[in-house]
Amino acid sequence: MRILLTGGAGFIGSHLSERLLADGHEVVCMDNLITGRTDNIAHLAGNPKFEFIKHDVTKYIYVSGKIDCVLHFASPASPVDYLMHPIKTLKVGSLGTHNSLGVAKEHGARFLLASTSEVYGDPAITPQPETYWGNVNPVGPRGVYDEAKRFAEAITLAYHRAHGVDAKIVRIFNTYGERMRHEDGRVVPNFIDQAMKGEPLTVYGDGSQTRSFCYVQDLVEGIVRLMNSDLNEPVNIGNPREMSILDFAKLIKELTGIKTEIVFKDLPVDDPKQRRPDITKARTKLGWEPKVSFEEGLAKTIKWFKENYK
Ligand code: NAD
Ligand code: UDP
Repeated sequence: MRILLTGGAGFIGSHLSERLLADGHEVVCMDNLITGRTDNIAHLAGNPKFEFIKHDVTKYIYVSGKIDCVLHFASPASPVDYLMHPIKTLKVGSLGTHNSLGVAKEHGARFLLASTSEVYGDPAITPQPETYWGNVNPVGPRGVYDEAKRFAEAITLAYHRAHGVDAKIVRIFNTYGERMRHEDGRVVPNFIDQAMKGEPLTVYGDGSQTRSFCYVQDLVEGIVRLMNSDLNEPVNIGNPREMSILDFAKLIKELTGIKTEIVFKDLPVDDPKQRRPDITKARTKLGWEPKVSFEEGLAKTIKWFKENYK
């Protein structure tokens, strides 16, 4: 297939580009580099099946030639990034999704939206199945991301119902791995970066809030399976192993072998208290489950951070 991948120069987009090329597809990577980097895709530049177009997808999208599939991954994803770019985040989730769906409709292409576990907000039930409608504060600071993605899901399925677009939605839970930016602000790069510099690890709140971390290669496998499926409904992709942020800080100290202290900082507003995917649907309908343990994935990520220390 010839695939349009928006947000392709970002963390997940770069890994997905690699995988799609390895599977024999052509990739048109479209990104405005607001949080992405050309460094992430520099190694793909010589590949004749890979093309990079610098473009803001909130503006009309034009791609010459046939497109068989649109994967819409453009959006700031780290809380630090989307709180710094609140309007751009709302625009890429709304206008950007609308434009990307327009390309899919025009080309008769299938469409896949990168959604998020944040559509569940601060969940009142755990683990979170796709049937849960969520607990989101629309007017809180995180609402710019959560509501943009919720709108994106709504318009995606509206295009499926009204225009027959073969649309899929992946609800991605916290994913980590090589090529996350050191200054990204998310907990995995923050703790690794702080440990490497011998600085204290900054735990927000008392660290009792939980997250479930998925290694990027596992996520990519789930996305590819969903893209190739006939499902037109949201599917959670994440690793159900849940851990408190304080335990995660202790694990980072253990894995890096660096003796640094843990300091406690204010908990961000509306920070979800718990998050764990119910992956029954992915298991039964896609035959997918994560394969890489947190320790193994973190070791690879730490190695990459050390080798790419700036
Ligand atoms: P990232 O910030 O590394 O990548 C996002 C990419 O989108 C960047 O390259 C950025 O420049 C690009 N982008 C943003 N706005 C754009 C615009 N208007 N036009 C063109 N390009 C634009 O983040 P990531 O972690 O790789 O996330 C990728 C996608 O996956 C996002 O949609 C995010 O919401 C979703 N997601 C990620 C996670 C995670 O844990 N990493 C979890 C849930 C959902
Ligand atoms: N967090 C933390 N210290 C940091 C960065 C994040 O304790 O230096 C916490 C944050 O408050 C949240 C969890 O780690 O409870 C995961 O944060 P992240 O930004 O990675 O993603 P989120 O799941 O909140 O979108």
